[in-house]
Amino acid sequence: MSKPNPVRAAAVTLAGIGLAAGALTAVAPPASARTQAPDTLFPGQGNPGYDVRSYDVSLGYAPATNHLRAVATIRARAEHALASYHLDLQGMHVRAITVDGRPATWKRHGHELVVTPRRKVRGPFTTTVRYAGTPKEHTDPDGSTEGWVRTHDGATALGEPVGTMTWLPSNNTPGDKARYTFRVTAPSTVQVAANGDLAERVRRGPDTTWVWREKDPMSTYLATVAIGRFDVHRSSTRSVTGRTIPIWSFTDPTTSSASRARALLPRVIRFEEKRFGAYPFTSAGMIVDDAKVGYALETQTRPFYPGGVDTPTLVHETAHQWYGDSVTLRDWHDIWLAEGFATYTEWLWGAAHGGHTPAQRFDSLYAKPADNALWHPAPTEFTDPADLFGSPEYNRGAMTLQVLRERVGSKDFFAILRAWARAHRHGNVRTAQFVALAERISGDDLGGLFSDWLRQDGKPAGY
Ligand SMILES: [Zn+2]
Repeated sequence: MSKPNPVRAAAVTLAGIGLAAGALTAVAPPASARTQAPDTLFPGQGNPGYDVRSYDVSLGYAPATNHLRAVATIRARAEHALASYHLDLQGMHVRAITVDGRPATWKRHGHELVVTPRRKVRGPFTTTVRYAGTPKEHTDPDGSTEGWVRTHDGATALGEPVGTMTWLPSNNTPGDKARYTFRVTAPSTVQVAANGDLAERVRRGPDTTWVWREKDPMSTYLATVAIGRFDVHRSSTRSVTGRTIPIWSFTDPTTSSASRARALLPRVIRFEEKRFGAYPFTSAGMIVDDAKVGYALETQTRPFYPGGVDTPTLVHETAHQWYGDSVTLRDWHDIWLAEGFATYTEWLWGAAHGGHTPAQRFDSLYAKPADNALWHPAPTEFTDPADLFGSPEYNRGAMTLQVLRERVGSKDFFAILRAWARAHRHGNVRTAQFVALAERISGDDLGGLFSDWLRQDGKPAGY
């Protein structure tokens, strides 16, 4: 995510949690753990006991009324026999649920949709939820808007951190990635964008059904559907691996054709491929729409921009395709693994195009006084969900990477970034795994460095 000014007032009341150097590597659960522990920041999101393999969602949408009529088919695997299980769904009217083709019963408690199948599910099972209604926007703890966001001629779905539950019953936690098929039927006067590749577009009477497939694993918060009047731009670019990457961009003609950003996108992809390794997905592009949310979002393969697209934001959201979308945090406390990396990529691009060097950016931030919001709370230590998109996660996160680079040298630094993208492609990660990888590649003990920069409240001394 990128806001025009992500530096917002952060709470400074949180007491620093002192940790001995090196403690960072000892706190994370094993990467192989399949069971979803509740997210520490959003404990109501995500559900234990199963792993979603795919969502196949059919949406019938009426732009004039913002009404949705939907069927979601969710294929999952139970980790043990389940007599009932939860999905996350906010609002909407559930009309029917079947499990493996048999009618099931359900109850709703707030955002929890509790499904009780006729018999216990074991191993692979399929849940089909029929639902309808007018999906709601969701207001985040920091006051920003996400979810199913109405536009002047349709809607755009934005899901970070939890908004996807407003239109899709799901295991709404970043740690449960799945494949997606979106089948959206709307009047032929509007166009439909979503993640991945356009598989089909079928006109029937006054309506057109658009079928988009995201075949690579995706976290729920990165899913999007955008419906409205768009100019559709089709092109392609070539990956460093020689592969052709189709580019689909949808721009609202009343906001911006984004022609400069569209022309720049292949160069940005190439710039980032040279530093991070091959582009991780099968397609690229952008969605430019008038959803008045005040931020851009790295929706997978096809980031969303609210109107004009400036170059730093384009570089930032594209960098997220590696760090955030392909290599995804498992717990929201580790969001610096997305935002710190995307911010640092803006620094790299700036330096390569006549701007300040990362070292200069670091120095001007480091000059900020000790009571600045940049230093409180430490990037991985916030407890208030309103601090999720604060300055520590973005700027102090990027500074952490610059400190690492100065410590291990540029050669090892970029080797670490590439190895990180390669080793955890389409996976989920914790900070401790990054620390371990950086130590392995550099041969240095980096526990103190990461503890100072990520865990200790206040301005790190001596840098
Ligand atoms: Zn971001």
